[in-house]
Amino acid sequence: MQVQNIVVAGKSGAGKQPRIDVLLQLYGLKQLSTGNIFREYLGAYGKVREALGDESALAGLWRDGALAPDQDIQKALRAAAKKAKVELASAVLGFKAAQYVDRGKFVPDPITNELLAAAFRAAGGKGLVLDGYPRTPEQSDFLLALVKECGTKLDLVLVVDNEDEAIVKRTVGRRICSSKACGKVFHLEHKPPKADGTCSACGAKVIQRSDDTEEKIRTRLQEFRDKALPAIERLVRSGVPQAKVPGNLPVFTDEAVRESVRTAIRPVLGG
Ligand SMILES: [Zn+2]
Repeated sequence: MQVQNIVVAGKSGAGKQPRIDVLLQLYGLKQLSTGNIFREYLGAYGKVREALGDESALAGLWRDGALAPDQDIQKALRAAAKKAKVELASAVLGFKAAQYVDRGKFVPDPITNELLAAAFRAAGGKGLVLDGYPRTPEQSDFLLALVKECGTKLDLVLVVDNEDEAIVKRTVGRRICSSKACGKVFHLEHKPPKADGTCSACGAKVIQRSDDTEEKIRTRLQEFRDKALPAIERLVRSGVPQAKVPGNLPVFTDEAVRESVRTAIRPVLGG
């Protein structure tokens, strides 16, 4: 069966990435995650901003929390984009996202949708595993329309299923090596760092990410229930087949993960 696109959903910390890796390998797909999309377009804008030097051209493009019309942003960035050899459309998208990200504001759905659509179309509308999107019912509606417009389809939404308490336990105990070059991941219970709190690989200090506190995890879990779950339901109600794969396995080996993914998707995708 020719698989075109798969959406992978699950709570933050449910263990999506190992399952995504299996799907990428099984069907030769490419991962399209919102995190990477944002990095790509913010990066494009970053280069243009550098080429711009003097930023007076940007004045007035963000007023009282609202963005100027696209053509004004294009006008302000055109010459610098050319100089930086960055596609103008990408620079504009990055500029828009940056206005929220740089101010620590939540990026509104229409902007996130615009970025996703650009990346989705650039890939020809198929061959993708979507990760981190859709995260609201409105994003689901947008995605369904986008897929239709591209003449492609969503073959499956795969939900990585994990209990809240298991996620809290796993995430609160997570520690990472503070060396950016190393970044080794530890867990206080299952894979502890050295007794003096340093990395067994490189000797740097091992730290807890600021996102990994219990309060923040519980906020993310609540957000999943409030928004992402209805987003998945919206896809399923409109006819996208759903499969669930357990996020916790008795034995966590590559083979066990692969097998559990295969078992979950077989009724929908065959094979
Ligand atoms: Zn290290």
